[in-house]
Amino acid sequence: MGLNKKTIRDIDLKGKKVVMRVDFNVPIKEGKIKDDTRIVAALDSIKYIIEKGASLVLLSHLGRPDGEKKVEYSMKPVAEKLQELLGKKVIFADDCIGEAVVKQANALKSGEVMLCENTRFYKQEDMKAKTDEDKKLQDDFVKELAKLGNVYVNDAFGTAHRAHASTALICKYVRPSVAGFLMEKEIEYLGNAVSNPQHPFVAIIGGAKVSGKLEVLKSLMEKVNTIIIGGGMAYTFLKAQGHTIGASLVEEDLIATALDTLKTAKEKGVKFMLPIDNVIADKFDNAAAIKTVGLEVPDNWMALDIGPKTVALYTEEIKNAKTIVWNGPMGCFEMSNFANGTMSICRAVAESGAISVIGGGDSVSAVNQSGLASKMTHVSTGGGASLEFLEGKSLPGVTALDDK
Ligand code: AMP
Repeated sequence: MGLNKKTIRDIDLKGKKVVMRVDFNVPIKEGKIKDDTRIVAALDSIKYIIEKGASLVLLSHLGRPDGEKKVEYSMKPVAEKLQELLGKKVIFADDCIGEAVVKQANALKSGEVMLCENTRFYKQEDMKAKTDEDKKLQDDFVKELAKLGNVYVNDAFGTAHRAHASTALICKYVRPSVAGFLMEKEIEYLGNAVSNPQHPFVAIIGGAKVSGKLEVLKSLMEKVNTIIIGGGMAYTFLKAQGHTIGASLVEEDLIATALDTLKTAKEKGVKFMLPIDNVIADKFDNAAAIKTVGLEVPDNWMALDIGPKTVALYTEEIKNAKTIVWNGPMGCFEMSNFANGTMSICRAVAESGAISVIGGGDSVSAVNQSGLASKMTHVSTGGGASLEFLEGKSLPGVTALDDK
């Protein structure tokens, strides 16, 4: 399943004023960008648009400034980084709406690029407008954003699951509205993996909680041959099966749901794999006392990673896969003593030769940490968006674009 929306390839850009939503929500510490992956990911669309003879205004949010102009959330360092990566001048506008910015946007010549200040400096960007008054306030803001161009492009896959002012609502006032190359690539890879998979299709689902992954489990259950479970969420399933889990993470209120999920997997013929051994610690700390145990976790100990037998079992399953979708780490990989499970699974996926799609913020950090990102077929830039896509939900930022 490809993208059934128009892209920048489908429209004439010459002489147009393009306003493009990008996802430049990058980690910044003391004014320095710690990871520029998301800026690099937008370069193809940016270069294409200006090479085709349009001028370009870029919009993005950064962090959660809660509708206030807070200097630590300024896009200025991003403009500097973009200028460096693009190798050409990037004008920085110190607001995203208002007369002065519109004037700056109108003055742009073809091939010129301007990045506006953080859209979330206005609460209208991401407010859930319920009252008529709030709806009007948000609509006025959207109309202001719409003055920045006569073509709208959405290349912000990372926020495509949100119907915000600059990600979806703006399409009401700017046509054509089309997708950028990153958006197209993300939807194609994720879409092909889930709707046109080669079998065996293996889903690896980990992370802290079952609650965050129930929907994706439900949706993948219809499509995959095997579900591999790791991370904190495994222990709710193991407790449901009657094992002792000590002080491991558990969602007591989801034990019945976990049992239902296991039952559904059995009915659908999906192989549902849970850890058979664990790395346990006497506290949630990299310096904790550590042991490897089988299925039963003693009182006061917590399982923070899958054990070596589980790694071997999962690796064997992954080896035979033709399609792999991975969301969520196998343990607390941020602490070196509990990273082995996640890193071993990274290696197994990289060596499998399968089509591998990595979605979700933490699994992407883990894959980057492993140094094996280039061995994966596709590493998604959007955590929440890729999860919602895998859950089978439609993404408002995509839905709002022009149909092909
Ligand atoms: P999520 O956002 O749900 O994908 O969860 C990712 C987080 O789960 C990471 O920060 C991991 O450190 C954490 N995590 C993974 N395994 C465990 C575990 N066994 N116990 C507690 N937290 C875990």
